[in-house]
Amino acid sequence: MKKLKIETRRGLRMAVGKRSFAGYSLNTCSYWVDGVIVDTGPRSLRAGFRAFLAAQPVEKVVLTHSHEDHCGNAVLFNEKGIPVYLHPGTVDRAAQPVRVPFYRWVFWRPRSPFKAEPLPGAIETARGKLIQVIPAPGHAPDHVAYLYPEEGVLFTGDLFVSTTTKLGMREEDYAAWMNTLAKLLEYDFDLICCGHAGMVPNGKEMLAKKLHKLQELKESILHLKEKGWSDREIERKLFPHTRKVELLSGGEWGSIHIVRALMNTGK
Ligand SMILES: [Zn+2]
Repeated sequence: MKKLKIETRRGLRMAVGKRSFAGYSLNTCSYWVDGVIVDTGPRSLRAGFRAFLAAQPVEKVVLTHSHEDHCGNAVLFNEKGIPVYLHPGTVDRAAQPVRVPFYRWVFWRPRSPFKAEPLPGAIETARGKLIQVIPAPGHAPDHVAYLYPEEGVLFTGDLFVSTTTKLGMREEDYAAWMNTLAKLLEYDFDLICCGHAGMVPNGKEMLAKKLHKLQELKESILHLKEKGWSDREIERKLFPHTRKVELLSGGEWGSIHIVRALMNTGK
């Protein structure tokens, strides 16, 4: 079994698992805070995440969204009778088997179907502290962020990943994503716990930087569009180095989706 890297900071524990394919490596993170697990890691790293998830007392599991790298091991908690909470919009779908494109199968495998409960507005931790649930669409319609004021922490799932946005997925909604980032910046936190980048200090500044770069990117795209450039021409100009990933993902993942989504958001 490949051991995961474990990190602790403030009252949090984080497990990070790594998968590599075709020269790309992707980390996935799961967090524990006061009896609550935030995201469960992908099925492809089940043995490592199973050990992490069993290493501390768990009363509840909350998921940031229903992608397989975040809820791949949620089923393990069904077996123990521990409640798993998910956005109400995808609770029914979580219980059904899913197919995923080849590259996602290689990195993560499809999630095991699992039973979830609809998320309430807040989650109580083992010591009676509250984790606030904040709807956060953009990367996925069922995405939520979790604010833990006790430690000044925001769990951001896939909303951050990096300050620079180079690759997008076909179904991502960048107008909603930018609204979400602007809304999250109104809350009080300084550490973000990302689903892939780990614990990010100066989290508020980093989220603000991501939003700022997306606004700049949108302006560049709209400027080129006004000059009559096509979506593919704009992609080649602004993202010259991302075609290999697009080919690998069969077109599901690529910079072209960012260009197309931002071209249509208006000014
Ligand atoms: Zn995701």
